[in-house]
Amino acid sequence: MTSLPSILLRATTTRRLIYPVHALRCQRTFATSKTLSKTAIVSGSGRGIGKAIALRLARDGFDVCVNDLEHNSSSVESVVNEIKSLGRNALPVYADVSKCSQVESMVETSVAALGPLDVIVANAGIAKIHLGLDATEADTQSVLAVNFYGVLWQDQAAAKQFIKQGAGGKIINCASIVAFRPFPMSPIYCASKAAVRSLTQSFAMELAKHKITVNAYAPGIVDTQMAHAADEIYGVVDGLPKGSFLENAKSMIALGRTSVPEDVAKMVSYLASPDSDYVTGQTMIVDGGIVFS
Ligand code: NAD
Repeated sequence: MTSLPSILLRATTTRRLIYPVHALRCQRTFATSKTLSKTAIVSGSGRGIGKAIALRLARDGFDVCVNDLEHNSSSVESVVNEIKSLGRNALPVYADVSKCSQVESMVETSVAALGPLDVIVANAGIAKIHLGLDATEADTQSVLAVNFYGVLWQDQAAAKQFIKQGAGGKIINCASIVAFRPFPMSPIYCASKAAVRSLTQSFAMELAKHKITVNAYAPGIVDTQMAHAADEIYGVVDGLPKGSFLENAKSMIALGRTSVPEDVAKMVSYLASPDSDYVTGQTMIVDGGIVFS
């Protein structure tokens, strides 16, 4: 009777005959990644989309560095506890992603506590709703500082860590459908998300040789505090009651509903998994059918 090891040996030999060496290496990664512990940093994960992503990645087997601003510490602690109750490790790290040095320390802290980094999700973002002509210098700088510089610092710090580790990695950036089709009343926000899409493409080209993939997700209208704040402002401008923007938005969504953070987390789960190993430079739209690119 053939012993198990010899079957495995034959299977390996067959693969060797069929696949080029780099593909074989990928196969090996697929075979082992489920048994090794994996770690991810998710910025802005104290609430909203980031929280759903952190919890989803924990369910997928990741230990998670839960980042947010310090004033959200109680929400962060509760996300950390929820992850631990799922049997994964979690670490709260308070850092402002718009500050390069704080992002570098966050990556160092995560690696020291949780182990080598596998995935970073540059999720933190802010929105300001106003006419372009009313954009102040301060508002413009703050949106770009978090939404664009924040993503840049996170991508850089994670990529340097991945290169040091020598085993590749996955960078996942938060864009938005406005990177494809801008909304009115938020020109700086829209521009910041278009910049994320462009950065994602360029970094994907630069980092491929290190086996680092760089992708982004583009949510549509997601039921979070950010969307409710936008709803209120659009309501004031249009003279409509609270909730009208979100309700009316349904008519432009093919699937007939606005999304929940978990809809977005499912896409990020895929981008963080080996199933997306051959995908890079893409911004994946998750909007229920608003933008058809
Ligand atoms: P949210 O406001 O509910 O949560 C954002 C989180 O990021 C908050 O916990 C906040 O404290 C944190 N954060 C903000 N600035 C930070 C900083 N400088 N450093 C660290 N953390 C910071 O928003 P959300 O709806 O969950 O949005 C998450 C991401 O999804 C954002 O990038 C946003 O632009 C994007 N997005 C949201 C929608 C939507 O409809 N909600 C649509 C498209 C894209």
